[in-house]
Amino acid sequence: MSAEIIDGKEISAYIKQQAADRAKACAAAGRAPCLAVILVGDDPASQVYVRNKHRACEACGVTSLQYALPADTTQEALLALIGKLNADDAVDGILCQLPLPEHLDETAVTDAVAPEKDVDGFHPVNVGKMLSGKDCFLPCTPAGVIEMLKYKKIPIAGKHAVVIGRSNIVGKPAAALLLRENATVTVCHSRTANLPEIVKTADIVVAAVGRPGFVTADMLKPGCAVIDVGINRLPDGSLAGDVDFAAAKEIAGFITPVPGGVGPMTIAMLMMNTVKSAEKRSGKGDF
Ligand code: NAD
Repeated sequence: MSAEIIDGKEISAYIKQQAADRAKACAAAGRAPCLAVILVGDDPASQVYVRNKHRACEACGVTSLQYALPADTTQEALLALIGKLNADDAVDGILCQLPLPEHLDETAVTDAVAPEKDVDGFHPVNVGKMLSGKDCFLPCTPAGVIEMLKYKKIPIAGKHAVVIGRSNIVGKPAAALLLRENATVTVCHSRTANLPEIVKTADIVVAAVGRPGFVTADMLKPGCAVIDVGINRLPDGSLAGDVDFAAAKEIAGFITPVPGGVGPMTIAMLMMNTVKSAEKRSGKGDF
């Protein structure tokens, strides 16, 4: 039997509608939520991401401030802009699009964003709070993964979740959030010795490797849920995930497609984080 498709477009539309409703309430109470996005340089992929974020803001009633800085922007100038936005009471969220040009220090830039405006959830204060189970901004892509599982009512507690990949922006936080949901979590990475045997025992597989076709159907336990975070550009220009989708969907119980799976969730969660920040900063609401 073919797996049920987890439709990221449908679920992200649902989240964005909720964000839009809450943004409208913020606006009615005084001020719409506001997201400041900084783009340094002219990387085409980053330009697309920033444009998509701007469009999502427009659709959700979130004010979007855009700062396009030249590729030769100095670290001091970038930190000064972040400092200005940190101090601006009308700004609820600050996001600096990564990757940055090589001469800039990404860690210093991420750390410079005030934790209470860190809607990407990358600041060490928010990472620490996430790990200790406190209220905080959750990183958008892994938070989107959890939303997808919950929306489809896929049980997490007590299940074995295997995360493939241990990056700071996807793999590690995805593992932390699955643990928060009471899954038994295994993290596989490039040095894992017996990856196929481990994946075979997973009720939930989260693939965040960045290699097309890495997860094959024979690695999967029949009926498992497969969340494919990978976005890989194939030589013919098309997009593919990390999972061999056509074969895996014949074994899995649930599966996300690429495109149209996890991808749209990231921006939806960013909108939600920005709205939550506005609510929290105006003294209403919690995370
Ligand atoms: P990364 O390169 O930082 O990390 C890749 C991880 O894969 C590493 O932790 C590494 O240990 C692991 N890995 C590499 N080779 C492996 C192997 N042979 N066996 C097991 N593990 C291996 O990448 P990332 O930033 O975590 O992104 C992963 C993928 O997710 C990419 O395709 C990226 O484009 C995509 N992505 C999607 C979204 C989204 O949907 N919005 C957001 C971020 C990243």
